[in-house]
This record gives sequence, C-alpha cells and structure tokens, in this order.
Amino acid sequence: MKIICVGRNYTEHIEELNNSKPNAPVLFLKPDTALVKGGEAFYYPDFSNQIDYECELVIKISKIGKSIPVSCAKNYYEEVALGLDLTCRDLQTEEKNKSLPWTLSKAFDYSAPISEFFSLKELGKDVQNLDFSLLKNGNIVQKANTSQMIFSVDEIISYISRFISLKVGDLIFTGTPAGVGSVKIGDKLVGVLEGKEILKCEIK
Ligand code: MG
Repeated sequence: MKIICVGRNYTEHIEELNNSKPNAPVLFLKPDTALVKGGEAFYYPDFSNQIDYECELVIKISKIGKSIPVSCAKNYYEEVALGLDLTCRDLQTEEKNKSLPWTLSKAFDYSAPISEFFSLKELGKDVQNLDFSLLKNGNIVQKANTSQMIFSVDEIISYISRFISLKVGDLIFTGTPAGVGSVKIGDKLVGVLEGKEILKCEIK
C-alpha cells in the first residue's frame, strides 16, 4: 500500500504559501508508517518546531490500474475519507531552500492521521462537490468544496497512473485548501465532511 499526495491543488493555498500555480499535479509520497487511524493522538516529534495541519480529501483506490484515461478514472475508486497531511514546515522550508526533496518534512511517522472511509454512493454526492472543513479547538480554520481543486480527482488518478501503477488500497491525498496553520501540544483537530465530524486528532 502506498500513499500519494498532491501538493498545490487549491489556488488560495498556493497564494498563502507564495508558491506558483503548477501546470501538472505536484506529487510526493508518504509511507504506510505515516498513517494514524481510529482517532489516535499525534505525538509531537522532537525534530520540528513548526508542524502545520493540512486537511485533505482522501481517495481509496479500489481497482488495479495503469495509464488510466481521465474518462475511466471514476471506475477506480468508491470511497473517500478526510486526512491530515501533517507537515514539518520548518524542515520543508530548509528542503525547499536547498532544492531537496520533501521526504523528511512530509513522510515522517504519524504524519497522516486519517478518518474512516465513506462510500460516495452512501454520501449521494459527486466527488467534486463535497464540502469539508477543519476545526482547531472548536474554530473553523479551513473550509472548502472539492469543486475548488485545480486538478480533479479523475485528472490526478489519470496523471499518477501514467508513471506509477495504482493498486487496491492505495490512498491519494488530494491537496489542501487555504487556511493551513501550525499545531501545538494540546490542540484538538476535527475534520468535517458533508456536515459530519469524521476525523479527530489530538496533539500530544
Ligand atoms: Mg498537503
């Protein structure tokens, strides 16, 4: 199982980090050791002083595929979740300044807390019309609709699969909207999808 993440997929988030708009999806990987399931806490690691939350829609791949056309991509997923792409922003800034990959700042242990999965059929909504938000200590810090993505889920799946085969159970983090910010010990994060609180993560 692999976790593929998309960076820079919402315009306002690109602007808040002073990045430029990509003409193809920006991709990076997290290992399976990044996952935190079942509402378990996140323990602040000793190698960073600035960990940012990034709340994202997550797609679970349901069928093996390679070189999937955009028009067929819908056949390769049925379920979605919310996830946090936790990022050591201080390390990432160093990596960016040295033109190094984002491996350590993005792929560290427990950097991907994730909710349970919900079928799109059950939700009764199109994948590009889902409302989601993130609350930090009860205050809304991120709020978006998946229609605001620069690259749609189907375009992302098609693009990834030209380079990397997708297998059943692979996860795709589809990018974060504006409003990213730091966490500190004691913070409580809650992710809301279509009005339902589905993701909980306490920082310890
Ligand atoms: Mg992200």
